[in-house]
Order: sequence, then C-alpha cells, then structure tokens
Amino acid sequence: MSVSVVVPIYNEEENVPLLFDQLHQVLSQSDREYELIFVDDGSTDSTGAELRKLAEKDSHVKVIEFRRNYGQTAAMHAGIQHASLDVIVTMDGDLQNDPTDIPMMLDKIDEGYDLVHGWRKNRQDAFVNRKLPSKIANWLISKVTKFPIHDLGCTLKAIRREIAQELELYGEMHRFIPILAHEHGARCVEVVTKHHARRFGETKYGIGRTTRVVLDLLTVSYMQNYFSSPMKLFGRLGIGCVLLSMVAGLSAVGMKLGAGVDMTGNPLFMLSVLSTILGGQFFSLGLIGEVNARIYYSNQEKQPYKVRELVNFNAANEFDPSVKIKRHAA
Ligand code: UDP
Ligand code: MG
Repeated sequence: MSVSVVVPIYNEEENVPLLFDQLHQVLSQSDREYELIFVDDGSTDSTGAELRKLAEKDSHVKVIEFRRNYGQTAAMHAGIQHASLDVIVTMDGDLQNDPTDIPMMLDKIDEGYDLVHGWRKNRQDAFVNRKLPSKIANWLISKVTKFPIHDLGCTLKAIRREIAQELELYGEMHRFIPILAHEHGARCVEVVTKHHARRFGETKYGIGRTTRVVLDLLTVSYMQNYFSSPMKLFGRLGIGCVLLSMVAGLSAVGMKLGAGVDMTGNPLFMLSVLSTILGGQFFSLGLIGEVNARIYYSNQEKQPYKVRELVNFNAANEFDPSVKIKRHAA
C-alpha cells in the first residue's frame, strides 16, 4: 500500500530540513510508493522557502501554501484532500513525532485496520500546563464519547485515504479524528508511539486550548448521538418541560383551592408558565433540527450510513465512489 504523509507546518524553519531527512530515510528504505505533503499554514519565517528548496530537489515533496494562518485543522484538511495514495499518515512538523514509527503503523493498516492512532505514552512536554490538562481531557472525552482512547492529541496517525477524505474537519476538530472516523465505521487501533521534546521553535498552543477542546467535545457528542435525529434530544427536553409545567401548574391550582394561596404570587405558577414556553421552544428547535438534517443529507447526496464493500454489484450501480466493489467470478 502506498503512503501520503501529511504535515501541517507553521513557523518551523529549523525543523523542516531535519524532518525531511528523517522521513526520507524511513520511507526510501521501504518499498512503498510515497509522497510528502507539507502544508505551509501561513508561516512568517523562512519555512516557505525551505519547503520550496526541498520540493526542487525531491519530487516526492509536495507543498500547499496557505495565504494566511488558518490553523492546524484547516492545514490537515487541505493536505488530506490533496493526498492521492492509499494510506494517509498525519504528523506534526516539529520533530516531536518520530517517523520511525510509520512502518509499524502501516503494518497495522495492512492487517486490516482503517485507522491507527498513536499514544505518546512517554510524552515529553511540561506536566502542569500540557500533560495534566491533556490527561483530564482525554479521560473526559473517552467517558463522554465511549471511545476508548489514551491520547487524542497525538497527531501521528495512519488512516485509509477514503475514510480520511470524508471526515468533516472544522474548527479544532482534528483532535477528534479517531472518534469521527469511528462514527464512519472505521476499525481503529491504538499503538504506543515515541515522542521527543521540542528542540527548535515553540509550541503554538497554551492552556487556552482546554476550553476549545471542551466546546468541541460538546459538538462531537451531539453529532454522535443526535446529528441525524435532533428531535430525540430536543423532543425529550420539550416533554420534560411540559411535564414540569403540568405538575407546577396543577400544584399552584391545588394550593389555591385547598389553602387559598394566591396564584399570581406563587412561584410554582411562574415555573409552570416558564416551562410551557421552554417546552414550546425545545419542540421548535427539534423540528428545525430535523429539517436541517434532511437538507444536509439530500443537498450533498450524503447518506447517514457508510458502506464498507459491495459484492457482485456493477460499478454503474455504485452510489459512492469510495466504496470498494468485490466481484465473484460468474
Ligand atoms: N501548526 C499549524 N498551524 C497552526 C498551529 C500549529 O500548522 O496554526 C502545526 C505546527 O507547526 C506543528 C503542529 O501543527 O507542526 C503541532 O503544533 P505544536 O507543536 O505547536 O502543538 P503541540 O505539539 O505543542 O501540541
Ligand atoms: Mg508539538
């Protein structure tokens, strides 16, 4: 199987030539066909010039240059969409990931997995503002999404191209790639990978990313559970509100009749009115969501399911070009 290596790069001028040497060494030794796609995410140092130099001397190197800095997720998305070989390997451009892990990960793909994600078991970063928040985040994400994972932040991954290219990566979603792929039916496996301390340049993230990750987690878990049927969430909330409104309203009436408690001064009456309104809002949100889901799927000819393989179908009947067709002899 051939390999496209995708590397998002933002201001890593010292790292680029070294990274290329490491990748070249590993990949030229294996007999797999390969390409190296470097995405220059609007670097302001000499990263762009370094990448051009590499592309001139080695035709395996391909460079995508962004007009400005769009962020790591956008850079990975661009690299993935432009990749043309069987398996996509993503990694950081700062020498923290080790290309010597790549052959082992590709072997896993050969075994039949669709996605192999790394676990930086021996992570070489600061403890308090990097490793600790990351540990907590991984634990929380794993609990919420029910996806067993130790290290979502590890960019070193190998993914079959057809699956990588159908992932919708927006915002900071690249951290959730294994979970998104798993939702698309990918067979995932985790392997322990090496990790080195940063030698050149500096990290592009601080503690501030924790809130972004938490917000993305909300989005991901909503998409996991309710994306194609939002009424299941909002309808339930609506029903809850209606029930609460009935209980509160009846109690207010009961208190008026039984004990002469003034209805307008009774907070239960207010609660009943409030939850009637809220219930109506939730039902409306659910309906809008349902309509949106239908527009989403019909507009883009998307299906809420993924087919792994078709057996004995003609290519002409095929509804999704990424699906493999297997034909038995007549
Ligand atoms: N990166 C990028 N665009 C950005 C920020 C980062 O392409 O806006 C790249 C960066 O050059 C590196 C990778 O994404 O190759 C990971 O970034 P970094 O090493 O700063 O993250 P950390 O390892 O500290 O989590
Ligand atoms: Mg790094």
